[in-house]
Formats: sequence, structure tokens, C-alpha cells
Amino acid sequence: MKNTFNIQDLVRDTVKDLKPYSSARDEYVSDGSEMIFLDANENPFENGLNRYPDPQQRSLKTLLSEEKQVSEKNILLGNGSDEVLDLIFRAFCEPNQDNVITLPPTYGMYKVLSGINAVENKEVLLTTGFEPDVDKILNTVNKSSKIIFICSPNNPTGNAFSLEKIEKLLTNFQGIVVIDEAYVDFSSEKSWVKSLNKYSNLIVTQTMSKAYGMAGIRLGICYASEEIIGILNKIKPPYNVNQLTQYQALKRVLDETLVQEEVKKILIERNILTKELEQLSFVEHIYKSDANFVLAKVDDANKRYEELLALKIVVRNRSNQPLCENTLRFTVGTPNENRKLIAILKEIE
Ligand SMILES: *Cc1c(COP(=O)(O)O)cnc(C)c1O
Repeated sequence: MKNTFNIQDLVRDTVKDLKPYSSARDEYVSDGSEMIFLDANENPFENGLNRYPDPQQRSLKTLLSEEKQVSEKNILLGNGSDEVLDLIFRAFCEPNQDNVITLPPTYGMYKVLSGINAVENKEVLLTTGFEPDVDKILNTVNKSSKIIFICSPNNPTGNAFSLEKIEKLLTNFQGIVVIDEAYVDFSSEKSWVKSLNKYSNLIVTQTMSKAYGMAGIRLGICYASEEIIGILNKIKPPYNVNQLTQYQALKRVLDETLVQEEVKKILIERNILTKELEQLSFVEHIYKSDANFVLAKVDDANKRYEELLALKIVVRNRSNQPLCENTLRFTVGTPNENRKLIAILKEIE
């Protein structure tokens, strides 16, 4: 069946009619030659940061475009992917009318953002094997369903979802499918960015907070059709990515080899940690991970969490999430941190 998806049917009327705020830095772009800028009421004395940042982050987008083999027109940057996700809500979901579909156990922000934006969050649990329940999702969809949020590799379970299942959702859902790829650099599966041309209802989000080691700068990346990027651009705050962030992100992406080396080390450590965890008597199961963390089912998560905390190790107790009773999530640390964790886990065994 052909997907009859039409983005103009999905965008909120208020957004459709919107003219974006045009900032001084939007109206004139320096061509590099010596110019006098008296248009933005900035302090004229140069200190490296006295000018407003580029609202379209052109240098950074050019670099990302080369690195990820995607046109700049298919990229939007945000103050963390959390801002990108919020923009998607605000562009497409009419408060107190529309709904979105999320697949718990998953990343908590989708629910928080649906609450903030007064959009109903229809939850369809993953199967016990932590895969999307495609038939149930498609049966839950109604005329007001605008977005399905898919987190793959999924947080907190760690697995990447089956390609066929995601494909089925992209093909059969007449709304937007957001694939949150915060952990894709740690995954054996490849990114969905390559499929942007195939699916006009696809939005892929990535972040510099995890593999790129830049959680402190807050930089989220959104990949989508030119049409969707155009809509999101209309509602984004003009200067949402500050100058320091643009500069640091640029430096880090230029250091791609270092990033990949760190990712490799983290993957080696993930395997070591998994093997060690499997040998502990109180660990019942380690879930397969495509991310930089491992989820472990233990005998008593609350007790083990407190024991670790007393020994100054902070992990994440995911027990209150559905299908995650008695689970702890361990982020992969440095080799030294992981050795200490393992020693302490043996101590409390
Ligand atoms: C950590 C994480 C993010 C990152 O969000 P930022 O706002 O970019 O730091 C996004 N999605 C998931 C699933 C995450 O776990």
C-alpha cells in the first residue's frame, strides 16, 4: 500500500500561517570581506563573543553534511535533541486535540514533552523481547495521531529495533515517525539517515551528548525532508544554538578519528562489563546492548542500588519502568571506573 502521507495535512494551522522572526543576522550574511555591522545593537568592541551567533549555524551544518553525507537542507540543529523533540511537538500537535504514540519502556522525555504541550500520549508497550508491537501500534493510531516516537537503540533497554518492524511503521503510518538515534554510534545497526529520501514522513534525531562526548554544550541534530526542516525552522528560536556551542561542536566533529577511537574503547569495555556482570550470582540477565550502557536484571534492584550508592557508585534504577522490574542500568565508564565497579559488585555479592 502506498503511503498517502502529506506533510501539509499534519502541520498545525497556526504554524502553517507563521512568518518566522527575521533577525538582523538572518538578513545579511557576511561574505567574509571587511564590513561594518551596525544592524544588531551589539557592543562593537570585539572580544570573540560580542556578535550574535549565526542563526543557521552554516559552518557547522556544512561540516556535518560532509561527515554524514546528508544535504545541509536536511539538517536542523537544536539546543540538545530535547529542544528538537519539543519543536516537533509544537509544529505538528494541536494541544488538547492531537495525540502521539510512545513505546515504553523508553526515554522519559517523550512523555514529559507531551505533558508540557498538552498532547495525549498513547503508550503501546514493547513486546517482552523489547520490540515494537507493530499491529498493536497501528491499531492504536487514530485520525489525531501525529507522531510515533521510536528510540533505537532504545533507552533503557539498549537494543536496536528490527529494521522490518520500523519499516512497517514508516510505510503504514500516515503521520510522522521520529527515530531517536542518540546511541546509534554504538550500534551494529546503521543509521536511518540514509533512508530520508525513501520516507517523506521520517525524522531522525541525533545528539552530541553521548558518543561525541559533548553533553555539556547541548547540541541536538535533526535530519528530515527539506519540507519538514522548513516547518521546524519557522518556529525555532532564532539564536537557539549559541556561539560557544557551535565552535566546540565544530572542533569535535573535526576530531572524528578521536571520537571513533573513544567509541571503540567504550565498546570493548561494554563487552568486558557484560561478561563480568554475567558471572555475578545476583545478576539474573544481561540484555543485549547496542548502546553505551547495559541493562541488567538483578535479584533486588532497590537493595543493590543502595549498596552501590553507599560505596559511592551511582547507577540508574529502572525498576519503575514497565517490563523493567528489578533492573539496573550501568553506563560504561572509563576502564578504571569499570574495574572499580566490578570489584565493588563482587564485594556486595
Ligand atoms: C541522552 C538521550 C538524548 C540526548 O538528549 P540531548 O538533549 O541531546 O542531550 C536523546 N534521546 C535519548 C533516547 C537519550 O537517551
